[in-house]
Amino acid sequence: MIKPEEAWRRIAKEIEPLEVVERNRVEAGGFVIGRALEARVDVPATDVSAMDGYALAGDAGADGDFEVVGIIAAGDSPGFELPPDRAVRIMTGATVPENADRVVPIEETDGGVDRVVVSSDPGPGRHIRRQGEVLRSGRPLLERGALLTPGALGLLATHGFAKVPVVSEPSVAILTTGDEVVSPETTPAPGQLRDSHTDFLSAAARATTSNVTPLGIVEDDAVAIAERVEEGLLADVLLVSGGVSMGEFDLVEGVLREAGCDFLFDSVSIQPGKPLAVARHEGGLVFGLPGNPASAMVCFWLFVRPALRRLRGLRDEFWQGALSARSLEPLPGSRGRDLFLPAEVRFEQGEPLARTVLPRGSHDLAAYARGTALARIPASSEPAPAGSRCEVLPLENWTATAQP
Ligand code: AMP
Ligand code: MG
Repeated sequence: MIKPEEAWRRIAKEIEPLEVVERNRVEAGGFVIGRALEARVDVPATDVSAMDGYALAGDAGADGDFEVVGIIAAGDSPGFELPPDRAVRIMTGATVPENADRVVPIEETDGGVDRVVVSSDPGPGRHIRRQGEVLRSGRPLLERGALLTPGALGLLATHGFAKVPVVSEPSVAILTTGDEVVSPETTPAPGQLRDSHTDFLSAAARATTSNVTPLGIVEDDAVAIAERVEEGLLADVLLVSGGVSMGEFDLVEGVLREAGCDFLFDSVSIQPGKPLAVARHEGGLVFGLPGNPASAMVCFWLFVRPALRRLRGLRDEFWQGALSARSLEPLPGSRGRDLFLPAEVRFEQGEPLARTVLPRGSHDLAAYARGTALARIPASSEPAPAGSRCEVLPLENWTATAQP
């Protein structure tokens, strides 16, 4: 059985960022830039004052007292002519007269209106921001692959981009299988249970893409599954849950093969989540997730999330972003597989502290639902006392957001 790192290596090999599309700037936050962009204006656009103060041409030194011939505000059009040996009141961001060569901050003057007394000469060029000193029009603005952070969006606004080329969001289809599985809106008959996967997978996938389509629940019947799978394969990523283990009614792998999917692997050395099967086809990837809710959850966080993030152009890896935490609970040992436990993580004086929750098994959604992080107990670990270190992977931004 392959290790999780090898499973991820096989998945990552199949992933290229999706096609680049134009998107309105105001809706482009969190997307990745699909091609390099160039500056469209000089920043600053003219030589401007960095301070509120007085502009003057101080060839013969600028300490002394000067007649003040006017006031220039930010936004005034350039072209103010400063007569020799005079000063002009100027505001931060206002264009400096061409024949002025320095700005004296108001703090170094008496603040006079008609005349001003300057107590110290700042020197030539001081407190003037030169046209284009931040960026010249035509120079590189943002690289391909850059994340559209709030700062980057502000920058694009400065340069007048109405549209931005961005990497598309992956489309995700979610299909749930199982004769015993019913919609959460119905009352299960004895022997049935409500579907938890569609809600979990939809919410988890929507943290990375808004293009998520649940395809509903399908019974354990090869023909019925094949019909829905055909629809699901139109998505960049199809998540099928249930039916991938060794049981009599585990039909998903066979159906996927029939539909032209090639399997990258069909089990991984992790607990829970061992029966995970991942396949590729011409139009994308299929994750056959185990039916047990905790297994599906762990597989999503470990493999599906980084795959979705890669598709939309973000850099991500298996277990990327894990922290070394101090465990507040004794840690169990593990057998031959890496064990992943739900954990709550909080920070105390900058140190991550993890409180693991021991699940009763891979069916224990109650335990995993409490986790805002996953803790990893590497394969063949001995039990360890509270206070030991363990690696934890925070899930989205939920770490330590809840009040105790
Ligand atoms: P399977 O992988 O289909 O053998 O399912 C393993 C276990 O997970 C069984 O006990 C199922 O009842 C349970 N299970 C499968 N699908 C779901 C689902 N959508 N929601 C909740 N439990 C499920
Ligand atoms: Mg099943």
